[in-house]
Formats: sequence, structure tokens, C-alpha cells
Amino acid sequence: TSTGPDAPVTPGSPAAGTSTPPDGAPARTRPLETARAQLAKAVDILGYDNGLHQMLATPRREITVAVPLRRDDGTTELFTGYRVQHNISRGPGKGGLRYAASVDPDEVRALAMLMTWKCAVVELPYGGAKGGVTIDPRRYSATELERVTRRYTSEIMPMIGPERDIMAPDIGTDERTMAWVMDTYSVNRGYTIPAVTTGKPLAVGGSLGRATATSRGVVHAARAALEEAGVGMNEVTVAIQGFGKVGSHATRFFAEGGARVVAVSDEYGGVHDPSGLDVPALLAHVAATGSVTGFEDAEPIDNTALLALDVDVLVPAAVEGVLDARTAPSVKARWVVEAANGPTTQRGDELLAERGVIVVPDILANAGGVVVSYFEWVQANQAYWWTEREIEERLEGRMVSAYEAVARTARHEGLSLRDAALTIGVRRVAEAHQIRGLYP
Ligand code: GLU
Repeated sequence: TSTGPDAPVTPGSPAAGTSTPPDGAPARTRPLETARAQLAKAVDILGYDNGLHQMLATPRREITVAVPLRRDDGTTELFTGYRVQHNISRGPGKGGLRYAASVDPDEVRALAMLMTWKCAVVELPYGGAKGGVTIDPRRYSATELERVTRRYTSEIMPMIGPERDIMAPDIGTDERTMAWVMDTYSVNRGYTIPAVTTGKPLAVGGSLGRATATSRGVVHAARAALEEAGVGMNEVTVAIQGFGKVGSHATRFFAEGGARVVAVSDEYGGVHDPSGLDVPALLAHVAATGSVTGFEDAEPIDNTALLALDVDVLVPAAVEGVLDARTAPSVKARWVVEAANGPTTQRGDELLAERGVIVVPDILANAGGVVVSYFEWVQANQAYWWTEREIEERLEGRMVSAYEAVARTARHEGLSLRDAALTIGVRRVAEAHQIRGLYP
């Protein structure tokens, strides 16, 4: 933990209201509870002992840092930042950096754990990590966000690096954030080190295809799941919750793939048209207004009603815990494709299974982002850049083969796709532990 701020904190500043809840206070959606329950089930299926279970359930190392910000008006505010390396047995930590008012240590721990299994499922030579700062980025200017990012990066410097832990965008951060992190790290080291972050702008060592990779991967995974049931993409209707970096591109790729996208939503609300939304017009509306709400030729719909629509494919692409004991019983979709991390709680998962809903789990469905992050890191390490076509083909190949391996395990062992993906991911990590042995 770093030392405190170097300037007094404004009393009653928003930081007070957005800081970590007191110990024991329930988080909004308890993503760590969900992640731990998923792991416990996989450990049970694999028959691992309690010692190994504890190792797999516990972050390898974590850091909490104070992030003081000098605001544009000269006052000071204090935020809290975290970086959690859940596991580094298969390679460096890998995972996003989230800026949101709801960020707390347990959410970061949960998301770091999901990254470990995700990287293992798609056979990347990485462990799992995650970072976060408890800040609502929409309330701060670009220069303020730059200062927050540079201070946060400086505070966690000893923990990150191309061989240690590689950051990428997540909710509330973007390619500009990754450029600031890379620059801060590089300036402190004295030379340019592009491989310390992924999801960077192309001009500073980003990769072609990274910005759309998560969304493309979601559509590849959805197509593979549909094909398994003998259903074509052009036969299905789709509803997508979340219209950020993942949901907006997924909307486009589902529509381009021939699916009928009938509803989308963002944090302000949603729009619904049973005959199919005009996606290019919708994207133009969002570019002009900043939200899907108010889009003409469609009916308004709220975020909860969207989850209960009579569609074939439901894509939660926003935040954790939206499919829970309350909402899962009304899901009518036959497939849920998890573009968000942790969108389904343990109870939600059980209720969906009882209803025969096929869930393509987050650690498989949304792995396209980290797959192309890996490609970006490989390219940066080699200082040699691939063509867009090479990236798109390799992404599709990885997604399809990961889906097939998971589906095969699910069939052979009589498991859900989630339990199959988790057992594959957890087994690979446990194997790495066992082969390396315990030191000392
Ligand atoms: N934040 C993304 C995720 O949750 C990407 C992580 C990465 O590319 O490292 O998968």
C-alpha cells in the first residue's frame, strides 16, 4: 500500500461517497461469491483436495494504492486503486483496468480470477489479473483522467511489466488510457516498452483488430453454439444488453452475420423492434446522441424487460450479476452468450439450466479480447506487425477450437458449457502448479 496523498483531500468530496464499502458490507452483485462458487464446483468435479482449492481460490498478490488527483479547479480528491494478480503460474498476469464508481477489492479479485480461467481456456501463456480505480470517469475531464492514470500506474509500477502483468482496457477505460499507462511506465524505465499494455492505439504499438476483438469473438462463439444445434445465424433473433465497447460492435457483427437484432440497451434504457432494428441507423443515432434511447422506429424498453424478451439469443454485454434469482426465471432465450464478465449469478445459472437455456460462459464467449491482446503483446515483443487478415483468421481459429474443446468436454462428461470451460481452465492452472512444484 502506498503512502497517502501529498495534498489535503477536500472534505466531503465525491471520493468519500465512492470509496470502498466498509468491511462486510454487501457489494451490489457480489461477483466474488459467484466466482468462488463456480471454482468450488469445478474443484469438486476435478476431485482436488482442500489445499489446492485454497490456492486456486486465493489471489497470488494484490496491491491497494491511494490515488490523489489534483482537479482542474485546483482542489484535490482521493481515489483508491487496486491491482490483483490472481494467478501467474502459466505466465504473466493479464487483465483489464476498470474505472467505475462501483469498483471494490472483491470485484477486482473476482474479475482477476475469471481472467486466469479465461486465459487458460484459450491456451494463452498468461495467468490472470485485474485492476480498478473507484472513480466514475464520466465526471472527470480528460486531463484529470490522465493524471489519475499516471499516478495509479506509478503506484503499481513494481508489480507490472511485459513479463509480469500486462494491462488492457475494461469498463471505463480505453485505448487512450492504455497509451498513458504505457507512456508512464516507459518514461520511468527510460525507453519505450509497448508490451506493458494491450488495447493501445495503433500509432503506439496497438494491434489491428483489437478494438473489435471481444465482440467478434462473442459472435464466433455464438455461431459455434448455434451450429451445434443445427441453427444458422440468419435464423435467430438477438437481444443485447450493454452498448459499450463490446455490445455496440457485437450488435453490428450479429447483424452483419445475418441475425435479426431486435433489442439493445445501455445504462439509460433500451429500444426494441420485433421486426429487427436498423443497425446502421442505430449506430448513427448513438454516434450523434451518446445513447441508444430515443432511437426512432423502435419502442423503448428497460434493461430488465430486455432480459425477458422472447428472442433466441440473449447477450448480456454490460456488468456482473444481471441474471440472478430475480431475472433468470423470466428468460425466454434458448441461448445466453455472456459477453460481459460474470453476468450470471450462481442461482441465476441454476435457474437457467432448469429451463434448458444453453449458457455460453464468459470465460469462453468473451475471450476474443484477450486473445487479440495476446497477439498485440506477441507483435510488440517481436516488433513485427501482422495484417488484419492474419489477426482475424487466428482469432476465429482460437475461438472455434476453444469452443469445440469445451463442447466436447461438456458432451463427454455430461456438464454444462460453463462447468466444462471451468474444469478445462482450472485443470490447466492446477497442472502448471503441480509440474512446477511448491517452493520451497
Ligand atoms: N478486459 C477484457 C476482459 O475482461 C480484456 C482483458 C485483456 O485483454 O487483458 O477480458
